[in-house]
Amino acid sequence: MKAARMHKIGDFRTDTLDIPKIQGEQLLMKVGACGICGSDIPRIYELGTSNQKYPLTLGHEFAGEIVAVGDKADSSLIGTKAAVFPLIPCGTCDSCESGDYAKCYNYDYLGSRRDGGFAEYCVIPSKWHLVPSSNPRTSFGAMSMVEPATVAQHAVRKGRVTGGSVVVIFGAGPIGIMAARWCEIFGAFKVILFDVLDEKVKFSQSRGLALTYNVLTEDAVSLVKHHNRGRLADVVIEGTGTGAALNLAIDCIKPNGTVVMLGNPHKDTVLSLKSHSNILRKELEFRGVWNSNYSNNPVNEWLYTMDMLDKGIFQCEDLITHKTDLTGLPELCRQIYKREISICKAVCCNLP
Ligand SMILES: [Zn+2]
Ligand SMILES: [Zn+2]
Repeated sequence: MKAARMHKIGDFRTDTLDIPKIQGEQLLMKVGACGICGSDIPRIYELGTSNQKYPLTLGHEFAGEIVAVGDKADSSLIGTKAAVFPLIPCGTCDSCESGDYAKCYNYDYLGSRRDGGFAEYCVIPSKWHLVPSSNPRTSFGAMSMVEPATVAQHAVRKGRVTGGSVVVIFGAGPIGIMAARWCEIFGAFKVILFDVLDEKVKFSQSRGLALTYNVLTEDAVSLVKHHNRGRLADVVIEGTGTGAALNLAIDCIKPNGTVVMLGNPHKDTVLSLKSHSNILRKELEFRGVWNSNYSNNPVNEWLYTMDMLDKGIFQCEDLITHKTDLTGLPELCRQIYKREISICKAVCCNLP
C-alpha cells in the first residue's frame, strides 16, 4: 500500500509498504479521505513528530471503511463507514477517569505519535475510536472533517452560544467558518467574522457568511455595534492565536461577556494596558479550548457532528478547496508551507 510518511524534519514522502497486520481488538480501515490539518505543516517542516519517532505515517483527520477485524473484535463491524477519534487515552489518569480524554496526561495519537491516515490502510486500536455514519450519502471527504468540525463545535459550546446570541469570530479559515455554522445551528442572532486576508473574507462570504470583514480595513467595534443595535458582542471566539486579535476581542465583547480562546498561540501575546484594564472593568470570562469532548458527559460532540452531517443540517464539504491523492500529497503540503497556494481545506482522497 501507499503511505505518506515523515522520515525526518522536512522529509515527507510517499512510500510503498505492506498492508499492516491486525490482532486482538484492532480493526483495519481502508482510508477514504484524510484532511491536512494546520498542525501538519509545522510538524513536517519545523517541529517533527511529537515523540520524534520516524518513519511515521501522518494524518489524524480521517475516515474510511472497516475491511478486516482482529480475532477479538466483532466481525459485524466489517463494512462500517466511520470517522476516527485519533486520540488513544491512557485510561488511568484523573482526566481519563472523568472522561476528559483530550486532557489525558499520557496519550498516544494516530497520525502524530503512531501511524495515521495518510495511507491506504490504517490500524484502528479498537471500535471505541469509530464514529459511524448512518447515511450512505455522507462522503468520506465530509467525514474526514468531523475532527476539525467538532473542535469548532466545542468552542461554540464553551462560549455557551444560545438562541439570540451575537457572536464575533476572529479567523475565517475552516474552523472559524464551521464555528459560525454551529453558532447558527445553536440559534445565534448574528455571527460576525473577521480576518486579515481579503481572499479569506471573500471565500467566507461566498460560503454564506455575509457578515465577514477584513479587520485591517474596517473598524471591528463599530461593525459589531452596527449589526447589534448599538451593543457589543455576547461571545467572542478568538481563533487566530494572535495578540492583535485578542486585544480586539476584548474591545468587541460586552461587560460580563465570554472570550473563547481557540487559536493556538504562535508568538508571545502582548496584552495592551487598555485590554488588561478592560478585562477588570468588564469582568470578562476567558475560556480555553483544547480539542473536543468524546465522552457522553455532557455530550459526545463527535457523534453529534456525524449525526448533523448525516442529516444534512451541518455542512462542511464545500470548504474543501484542494484535493490530492497519496502520491501528490507531499507536493501539496510543500505548496501550502511555501504559501504558493491559498487553501481553505485540503484533503487527501483515496475513495470517492
Ligand atoms: Zn487537526
Ligand atoms: Zn489519561
